[in-house]
Amino acid sequence: MLLWNAVLALAALGGPAGPAQPPKLVVVITIDQLRPDYLERYRAQLIGGLGLLLRDGAVFTNAFQDHAVTETAPGHATILSGRWPAHTGIIRNSAGVQDSSAPLLGVAGPGASPMRFRGTAFFDWLQAAEPAARALSVSRKDRAAILPLGRARQQVYWYREGVFTTSRYYVDSLPGWVRAFNDLRLPFRAAGTTWPLLLAPTSYAEPDSEPYEHGGSDFMFPHNLPRDSMRAAVALMETPVMDSVTLAFALAGVRALGLGARGHTDLLAVSLSTTDAVGHQYGPDSREMHDQVLRVDRYLSWFFGQLRVRYGSDGVLLVLTADHGVTPFPEWSRSHGHPGVGRVGVDSVVAAVNAALRTTKDSVFIDNGMVLTTSRDRMSEAGVNVDSILADLAARLRRVSGVARVQRAVDVIGHDAAADPVTRRWSHQVAPDGGVELVVTLLPFWLWDTGDVIAEHGQPSDLDTRVPLMFWGRQISRGTYAEQVSAVDIAPTLAHLLNLTPAEPVDGHVLLHMVASAN
Ligand SMILES: [Zn+2]
Repeated sequence: MLLWNAVLALAALGGPAGPAQPPKLVVVITIDQLRPDYLERYRAQLIGGLGLLLRDGAVFTNAFQDHAVTETAPGHATILSGRWPAHTGIIRNSAGVQDSSAPLLGVAGPGASPMRFRGTAFFDWLQAAEPAARALSVSRKDRAAILPLGRARQQVYWYREGVFTTSRYYVDSLPGWVRAFNDLRLPFRAAGTTWPLLLAPTSYAEPDSEPYEHGGSDFMFPHNLPRDSMRAAVALMETPVMDSVTLAFALAGVRALGLGARGHTDLLAVSLSTTDAVGHQYGPDSREMHDQVLRVDRYLSWFFGQLRVRYGSDGVLLVLTADHGVTPFPEWSRSHGHPGVGRVGVDSVVAAVNAALRTTKDSVFIDNGMVLTTSRDRMSEAGVNVDSILADLAARLRRVSGVARVQRAVDVIGHDAAADPVTRRWSHQVAPDGGVELVVTLLPFWLWDTGDVIAEHGQPSDLDTRVPLMFWGRQISRGTYAEQVSAVDIAPTLAHLLNLTPAEPVDGHVLLHMVASAN
């Protein structure tokens, strides 16, 4: 650790750089639900990989997933495509990577593929310039592994009930290195283990005893995994260890595939999911979140050290970001300056409108603030006055507590207005052909009711859209950059650094000011 820091410090001091060498490996790390304010809050205790990026990287302090439905699938589709959800076709989790024609290998579970993803992504541009380039993408979640690579049939793996798997969209059988890693049975061997605090309890300012956390049970440290190995392999998904297993699997893949060892640039994408699980169950202001972020920091220190051993201090170009932020539990917010906030349920309002329809084949439904119709054309053919139905629904929704505004999709499309972030984020979200009719925005700190007492994201609020964005590598000038940037800027910036041309128009911009002048 000390040696690694010393080498990085020397590299950052610079001196004239030699002829531009492309990186051997581009590494894109997404930390699911990581809010950038955590990095400030815990800064003094971040002595590992996050601390290293904060100190020696280019740190953007006003970065956003600048679209409205801040869910995992839309966010991950944005990061390496350079395009908004309105243009990637991935506008919600529930119409994300699900694909029954692409079953999993070696384990039961929902099939998955990028069939809904439109257009190209960064890896396609890389491969167009270097046909031998390869990519590995790894996550606990299918959507977080699949979408960063767009439609590319590369090495893409996610976690399912104790093992890493993929789907038949990619391959027909699991490669030997994946089977060998699964044979280690690390998740099953976690049975009966404990998640304790990393540091002494006095190092944590947050109260540990909040009875609304984790469904009202097991909300204090230490957290114990079940003694049954199968149950432990599932429960592991809500503990920090899942992220360390994911990083270990990624490194096993890097070694087995020989990424970055063939004289051209390869791509590694890793999405770490436990911050999201902890955020939902315990909230952004919990002691559990504090400990989770510290542990990710330490895991990344190990991981970056391993990459340095393999590629040297000049061989890696690294990006770290998140797919969205999170809004606290209303139970927390009500006692922290936001009295009266709650969860918004509109099922009965939507059901009343559907009951009045003159067709049973089609319906109106709402998903994270987007009101969609199953088929506007069929509803019209059946004699339904769709516009009238929607106007009625909009009027009813506006009367619901917690609803800030209801807008027609046609009134936000094309309105990329900087002065109004909510409308702007919706304009980045919905496409003319996406089936979205109305968009509903909640008041700050309110949540959609999912039926669970959890913290949630998915709104066009700053809480949910603000993300960390950090770059590190010899091509990058370290520093803190305060201008407003977006996750769609990542792909065009990486393309610029590698002298690649995006294969289609992108929504993002090259973050030129942090590119080292010698490059
Ligand atoms: Zn997510």
